[in-house]
Formats: sequence, structure tokens, C-alpha cells
Amino acid sequence: MLTASATEMSDFFNNPFMAFSAGFGLGPIPIGFARRTLYPPVERYPDGRAKYAPYGLRKVEAMLLENGFTESDVVVAHPMDLHRFIGSDTKVVGISSMDPTGMGYVSKTYSSVIGGGEPMNAVEFQKLVKHPNIKKFKPKIIVGGFGSWQLERKQMTDKYGVDCVLMGGRPDAIIDAFRKAVNGETLPRLVHADESLANWDYGTMPLSKHAAIHGAVEISKGCGRNCQFCTPTMQNKVDVPLERIMQEVAMTTREGSDHVTLITEDLFLYGSKSKTFVPNKEAVVNLARSVAEYPGVKSVQVSHMSLAPVVNNPQMIKELAEIFIQRSWYSLGKKAIITAETGIETGSARMMRKYMGGKMLPYKPEQWQEIVTSAFGILNDNDWYPLATLIVGLPDEKEEDVLDTLELMDKLKGFNAFYVPLFFVPLENCVLMNKKGAELDSLSRARWDFFIKCWEYNIKIWKPTFLENRITNPFLFRFINNVFIPCFGGVMGLYYGWKRGEQLKQAFWTLSNPQITERAY
Ligand code: SF4
Repeated sequence: MLTASATEMSDFFNNPFMAFSAGFGLGPIPIGFARRTLYPPVERYPDGRAKYAPYGLRKVEAMLLENGFTESDVVVAHPMDLHRFIGSDTKVVGISSMDPTGMGYVSKTYSSVIGGGEPMNAVEFQKLVKHPNIKKFKPKIIVGGFGSWQLERKQMTDKYGVDCVLMGGRPDAIIDAFRKAVNGETLPRLVHADESLANWDYGTMPLSKHAAIHGAVEISKGCGRNCQFCTPTMQNKVDVPLERIMQEVAMTTREGSDHVTLITEDLFLYGSKSKTFVPNKEAVVNLARSVAEYPGVKSVQVSHMSLAPVVNNPQMIKELAEIFIQRSWYSLGKKAIITAETGIETGSARMMRKYMGGKMLPYKPEQWQEIVTSAFGILNDNDWYPLATLIVGLPDEKEEDVLDTLELMDKLKGFNAFYVPLFFVPLENCVLMNKKGAELDSLSRARWDFFIKCWEYNIKIWKPTFLENRITNPFLFRFINNVFIPCFGGVMGLYYGWKRGEQLKQAFWTLSNPQITERAY
């Protein structure tokens, strides 16, 4: 039996970026309401199997199917359907999780800023491992996925009744753990299944047999730029051969998805062998065209990109935009746009040099602000509006570093983008894993100003589109637009002012009254 928590077995109404919100606390919202209105279950086949599932889970399914298990041995299902599949003959439940205890970047940041208790990711994971059929029939529990390390770090492995935590995605180690579980052998509590990508043959990774949520298809693994807060930094980049990518695209469309999401740490470096990260335009454009023009593909989304290649090869961006705008997934107002996630992280050249010396290659850390603003200009000129993350609270971050970031945000004022400010979190297997994470209470006034500025931009750029797309009832629209949002900051300000002090009160008040923010800056 393979599954994931309800927040991960959802397409968030066909909106990959809304999955961020599962890092927020539920607050007083009933879980059933959240499941209906935020993360509805994926489509199911009549027999109850999930039609779509997280990409990593589909890979584990394929590993098992190519190594002695049959389609009738392995089931992939939504947690709401576990009662149909877990019984006395179920040997093992494999769970994939990105964020089982809410220690991911978004969860750590927004559950402390907004409050509302445990992040939805953590609540749903708990519900999954405590499912009545798991308690009753006691199959072995194996947890893998990008966030599995959290169980060990938070010492929740035993508490949740997990028999084995898998870290990494190497097929031989994963298959071995499942074989042991099925044969009734003792499982190691912890399996390191890390891929050492330096000499890794992608051919050992089986092709997915069934479609993933959002039509996810991996095009490259790892990155190699060596940002010290990041896990993919530990891996050199490996490109998936185009032929294999197209085989998964074909399978995805065959199984009913007309969307394809290209999973990568950086689309622009697909096919590049350059040690200074100079893109290979022909390889990237050829990949984009092959996927976008594949029969049955109506929209294509790219998961991640970096900014230096944009400046290095603006012609590549132009050619990619001409392809992707025909297969656009998002819009701003009525205008089709292209987007992908990227990391700005900071405006401080000192922080860049210290922790992210490879991120701006082939340029220099001192040029970072210029790279970001030039890249945003080129991207926006081509209807490409990035979703950008920024990190506050990196170890040894000083006030002047934050002021540099504020200066960069000022320079970005005229561009269209969505900004996600995050607290530094020491992820497992990154260089900074033993450093202290940023905490809400330690945020200075400048850090709060930075947080506010990011969300002030977001509200200004995206509020009308969000309201038009999500709120169809005209009365509700007017209420939210004219009453709720203007009052939100005041109410939150009072609440947080009472709970956490003057700084937060000021923060939320300023956020919902942009005219005050304008004056303040
Ligand atoms: S560029 Fe992005 S993916 Fe690569 S190491 Fe840095 S943060 Fe990680």
C-alpha cells in the first residue's frame, strides 16, 4: 500500500503553488472544510485507486513493479480510501512525505507568523499514521520522501509507530526495505538511500508507470551550485535523457492529464555541462518545444529556475516564452503569464559570498542585486512572472545584510512577481544543518519591514486576480475586497499586539494599509 497525507494527495484545485498553504496552521477551521475547499482529494478510479499521486510515490511504485511485485500487489490510494485497502493481508504501508512534522521552510515560517497551531501538513500526516486500519492490522510502516528526516530530528519515529525511515531515493535501498517488510524480516530503523549523483546512472531509475499530480515529470536531479542552506546542493546535476522524459510525458497524457509540470532545480541548465553554469540554449529550447508540442499537452509548468542564466542568455528566455505562453497555466488578470519558482534569498553580497557563492555564476557575488533586477526585467518583458523566495535569519546575518535586502526589494518595486519571505531552517543534509534556525521572537524591526514589504507587493499585484479567480459570488467578492481585507490587518494587529507585542501589531496593521506603508518608506 502506497500513500501520502491528504495535503500531498491533492492538486489544490489544479494550482501547484497553492500547495504552499498546507504549511499554514488550520486555526479554528474544521479539517473537513479544509479538505473540501483547499486540498480536495485527487481523482480516483472506480476501484478506489488514486488516478494521480506525488511523483516520488509513483517512482517507488515503479521500482516495486519492476522488481517482482505485480499491479495486484501494489496499491496507490488517497488516505480517505485506506479502509478499502488496508486489511489483514497488507504487509507494508509506504508513505511519502515532504513535511511530516511541519519543519519545512513554509511551515516553520507561516505557522509562527500567522499562528493557527500545527501546520496542516503535520496534522494530516498524524491523521494518516493513526488511521484506524493501520492501528488494527499493524502493517509495517515505511516513511520516505523529501521530509522524512524530520521524523528522526523531532524524535517522532517511534511515537508515530514508524518502522523505517528512508532518506534518499536510491532504488536498490528502497526495494530492499520493501522486500524485507513483505518477507516479515526486521527492518532497519533508518535507511540512507542517498543518491551520489557524481557517478549515478539515471538508467537505474525506472520510468513511472502511472501519472503524477500536476503531470509531474522529472527532467533533472540535483543542482551543483552549492548553496549551503539547500539539500540539492549536496548533489551534482544529472539530466534525464530527453527520450525518457518524453516517455513519461506520453504516459501522463495517456492517463488523462493534459498538464505537464517539469520537475527540476533549474530548467535553464538542462543539458549544460558548463562548470560556470552557462546554459545550453539549444538543449533547453528543444526540451521545451518537445514537451509543449506533444499531442494532448495543453499546459506546461516549470518547477524551478535560476536567475543568472536569464541575464547570460536573454534570447533563450525569449524563445522559451514564445513556446510556453501558448501552454500557459496561470494568468494575471486576463493576461496569460509564465511562472516558475526561483531563489533571490538575499540582497546582501556578503551573505551571497559566504553561503551561496555558486548561485550567481558565471557572475560575481557583488553583482547579485544587478543580476536579480536585470533578470526580472528580462523575464517580465517576456510575460514571465517569477515566484521568488527570500530567506531571513541565515546564521551570522547582520542588520546591514537585511538593509541590503530591503534595498533590493525597493529596486524590484516596479516588477511583477510573487514574493515568499521565509525563515532560515537547517534542513537535513545541507551544509548548515547544525546551525540554529531563525525564530519569530528574534526578528528585528528591519526584518519585519522586509516581511511586510514582500506581502505589500504581493497584495498589490495579485489581489484582484486572486479575488476574480477564486471568489465567484459577487456579494462575497465585495465583502472580501471592501470589508474583510481592509479590516484584516487591524483585527490581526490587535490580536498579535496582545499575543506577541507591538512589532507584530505594527506589521499587520501596515500590511493591510498600503497607504501607510508607502509613507513609512
Ligand atoms: S541554486 Fe537553488 S537548488 Fe541550487 S543549490 Fe542553490 S538553492 Fe539549491
